[in-house]
Amino acid sequence: MLSRDERILNLKANPEVSVLIVGAGINGIGVFWDLALQGVDVLLIDQGDYASGASAASSHMAHGGIRYLENGEFRLVREAVQERNRLIENAPHLVNPLPTTFPIFKWFSGLLNAPLKFLGMLDRPSERGALVIKIGMTLYDLYTREQGTVPKHTFLGRKRSLQQFPALNPEVIFTGTYFDGAIHSPERLAAELIIDAVSVNRKAIPLNYVSLAGMSENSVQLQDELSGKSFTIHPKVIVNAGGPWIDSVNRTLGMETRYIGGTKGSHLVLDHPQLRKAIGEHEFFFENKDGRIVLIFPLADRVLIGTTDIRVDDPDDIAITDEEVQYFLDMIRRVFPGIRVDPSQIVFTFSGVRPLENSEASLTGQISREHKIEQYQVGLSPSIPVLSLVGGKWTTFRAFAEQAADQVLEDLNLPRRTSTAGIRIGGGKGFPDSKVSRKEWVSRVCTTSGLSEDRIETLLSRYGTRAEQIAIHIASSQDHALRNYPSFSIGEIETIVQQEDVVRLDDFLLRRSMLGMLGRSSKAGLIELGEEIGKVIGWNAQRINYEIQRTIEILKTEHRMDISRYLIDKEMQPSLVMEY
Ligand SMILES: Cc1cc2nc3c(=O)[nH]c(=O)nc-3n(C[C@H](O)[C@H](O)[C@H](O)COP(=O)(O)OP(=O)(O)OC[C@H]3O[C@@H](n4cnc5c(N)ncnc54)[C@H](O)[C@@H]3O)c2cc1C
Repeated sequence: MLSRDERILNLKANPEVSVLIVGAGINGIGVFWDLALQGVDVLLIDQGDYASGASAASSHMAHGGIRYLENGEFRLVREAVQERNRLIENAPHLVNPLPTTFPIFKWFSGLLNAPLKFLGMLDRPSERGALVIKIGMTLYDLYTREQGTVPKHTFLGRKRSLQQFPALNPEVIFTGTYFDGAIHSPERLAAELIIDAVSVNRKAIPLNYVSLAGMSENSVQLQDELSGKSFTIHPKVIVNAGGPWIDSVNRTLGMETRYIGGTKGSHLVLDHPQLRKAIGEHEFFFENKDGRIVLIFPLADRVLIGTTDIRVDDPDDIAITDEEVQYFLDMIRRVFPGIRVDPSQIVFTFSGVRPLENSEASLTGQISREHKIEQYQVGLSPSIPVLSLVGGKWTTFRAFAEQAADQVLEDLNLPRRTSTAGIRIGGGKGFPDSKVSRKEWVSRVCTTSGLSEDRIETLLSRYGTRAEQIAIHIASSQDHALRNYPSFSIGEIETIVQQEDVVRLDDFLLRRSMLGMLGRSSKAGLIELGEEIGKVIGWNAQRINYEIQRTIEILKTEHRMDISRYLIDKEMQPSLVMEY
């Protein structure tokens, strides 16, 4: 891939592009990937980093949305289950079957929810009992049985439930366990889709830190957020994939819309070995006192807790509140009453806004999770179609992107060359799917690269089969492990920075790696990462300091993690930090 500066220079020289996609969350990236595979020249921009908006705030589930059955959203559940299975098959290095356990405390309640919702007579949640959950899980199995990607659900009585999960609330009468998918590192999936798009089509151009600035006649003004400089392009079709910012993107294009009525959701990441052990490799998905479905999720060696669902108008400035933290701490007690959680065990928090369609529903849980495309035209003759992608989930991104890409191809009068349904993603290509083939793969790459088995295993679980290329690069360089993050090495960081458009320190900490999310940010770690990334990009000391300071500020304001109190080294004193 050309460097970011070269891509911008080329665009300035040749400003005609068939498609401009505004917003590089998973929906924009999905359309970019699909159109690249169809051979279309397409430009993808984001005002920040790739997948840094709503797409960075997900609960890491590839899920059919069993809960949506009671809202009567059967089409959505069927599609989502199919797409969940495709993700497990096409990105097996990043998405795996996830046993999901629902502890049940009642027999019959909730039975009438779906029919009442259909008749418009339900405006409050009611607790789901064993029978309604059993029906939901059976329907779920029916939707998924042809593909057979995940096992069927099971139901356990009280005694066996407590044998399997001894810390569980003894008031439980059943546990139902069904399978969904876990997306271990969604932001890495996003990065790999971009790499795949660029590798098949040199006219597919991604640019992070470039925002939509304005529109006049048929020219669109873009602004490079790193240099502050503007440039103009002439697209034939615009895809507005602005997620929670869709209406503000439309405003910049000169059109007032009210497509989005977003809801905020927050998460905690806990360093809590006792709770981590109590859940095993199961996600616990259950109903809190207020009827809201919440989750306790195994995230590497940490525990992910989520999520809230609160209406918001402004998608910026949405860090977790004290009330949300308290809500989570109380809700853990409901299922694991003997496990104490202290706020000091919170190692990371994150929040985002679901780009849901504007709705009058009285409860946020009842707002449809469906996705749809809204269209209008801008510009002078020939006018430019603008497609706004409203809604959507990580799980269904491929299907939604396909729908949008079909519309774009029709507008451009181009044929679809290939479907994305069966295409393996990034390091999922040639991924060894069995224990035996995995062993063979690791041993082969050990021989070709000279690296240890442990090292290859780590790279394989992080990058899938892209690990081979990274291992070869590492073997040919003066590699060594990072002091603060010994499972990472400088050769590995070099490859990621060069191939994945890392332009900020937080791009690597929060999105190309799981270091930030797993609560491994430290002052020493940031300095070391800043220096190593700086060597690859060519940052001077001032820029490195600026990047460290900026990351500390992001951790503080967006994730409520204050590591600045550790700022005691001379070279890190804020007075020495220069504006970049
Ligand atoms: C709390 C929470 C939990 C969730 N959990 C799950 C889950 O477990 N499973 C699941 O499948 N889904 C989940 N989702 C849903 C899913 O994450 C989102 O629906 C999806 O990420 C939306 O992607 P998007 O591309 O539409 O929006 P975004 O990811 O927000 O992307 C929009 C992008 O547009 C950019 N942008 C805005 N304005 C401009 C401009 N003027 N110029 C350039 N760029 C601009 C933004 O910077 C942003 O990156 C969850 C969502 C939330 C909030």
